[in-house]
Amino acid sequence: MTPIDCSLCGKKIPTERLVALPQTRRCVKCAQEKGSDIVTKRVGIGMDADTYRDLLGATRS
Ligand SMILES: [Zn+2]
Repeated sequence: MTPIDCSLCGKKIPTERLVALPQTRRCVKCAQEKGSDIVTKRVGIGMDADTYRDLLGATRS
């Protein structure tokens, strides 16, 4: 796998991290400090996972 530079600090993202999170463009340190870019995408739904689940449960019952 080709090493990718962190989009924030420019350091190489470890290959193990890219295997676990192929979409990430942030190193562990930046993800901890600024938040993961992957979590940001999920927030784009407009609600957190638990709220979404409650909503689905409510529609079903
Ligand atoms: Zn970084």
